[in-house]
Amino acid sequence: MFGSIAAVLAAGAGAAVIGVVVHGHAAHPRAAPERPARQTRSAAGGPAARPPSAPRRPPRRVLIVGGRRQPPRARVPWAASGRYAVARGTARPPRGRRGTVVRYLVEVEQGLPFSWRDFAAAVHRILNDPRGWGSGGRLRFERTDHGQVRFRVSLTSPALASRRCLPLDTGGRLSCWHGPRAIINAMRWGMGAASYGKDLASYREYVINHEVGHGLGHGHLPCPGPGRPAPVMAQQTKTLDGCRRNPWPQRRAAPRADQSTGQRSAGRRVGAQSRSASPAASRPR
Ligand SMILES: [Zn+2]
Repeated sequence: MFGSIAAVLAAGAGAAVIGVVVHGHAAHPRAAPERPARQTRSAAGGPAARPPSAPRRPPRRVLIVGGRRQPPRARVPWAASGRYAVARGTARPPRGRRGTVVRYLVEVEQGLPFSWRDFAAAVHRILNDPRGWGSGGRLRFERTDHGQVRFRVSLTSPALASRRCLPLDTGGRLSCWHGPRAIINAMRWGMGAASYGKDLASYREYVINHEVGHGLGHGHLPCPGPGRPAPVMAQQTKTLDGCRRNPWPQRRAAPRADQSTGQRSAGRRVGAQSRSASPAASRPR
C-alpha cells in the first residue's frame, strides 16, 4: 500500500512542476477566477479603490483543460489550526426536481488558504449536478449549518486528515470517509492528482463524489476494463488502472425527474449511511 502511495506522491510532484506556469498566479488566496466579483472588494469589504496612478494589473493567465476553465492551483500547508469552522448559512436543494432531501453540512479547517464560501458553493454544485448521486430524482442535497445532518464535507489539512482518517493510514496524502465526514484533503483540493493531470476542476468533482459516495453507502469498485470510464468509486487518486478518469456517478445526466415518467426514480439503493470507520470497510455496492 505504501508503494502505491509513494508512486502517487512521486507522480504528484511531477504534476506540480508541470503546473508551475499557472501556479505562479494561483497560489495567492485572492486568485479565484470562479468568483471574480469577490476579488474586486477591498479588505474592508467595500468596492476596491484603485489609486489613479496605479498601473493596471496584467490579466491572470487562465488554464483551459478539456474545454474547462481551471481553478487556480494552491499550495497548502501541512498543518493548519486543527479546528473546523462550519460554513454559515444554507443552500437550498434544486427546485423542480424530485428526490429525498438530504441535509448536509460543510466545514473548513481554519487556516487553510481557501474561502469557505467558495468551497461550500463548489460542493453544493457538485452534489446537485444532474450526473451526481441525486441523478434521476433519487436525492437532492440541502446544505445547512445547524441541526441534524446526514454527513459533513470537511476540507482538511494534510496533518489533520492523517489523524482523522485513522485507522486508514493515508500519510496525509489522501482523502477519506470517516464517521460522519467526507474528509477532503486540502492538498488534493489545491493541487489535484497525477491521474487527472492538469484537470483540477474534474478532480475536485471526483474527490467530492467519491468520498460522499462512501457516506451514502458505496464501497470501492475496480476498473471494469482498459479504456472504460472508471467508476466514481474506483480509487482514481491512486491509479486509473487502465480506465479513463471519470468524476461522476452517472456519466450522462439522467432525465430530469420533473420531465421523466419516473421510471428511473426507482434506482438502486443509495440511502444507507455507512457507519464504518474507514473507506475500506464501506459496504460494497
Ligand atoms: Zn474511497
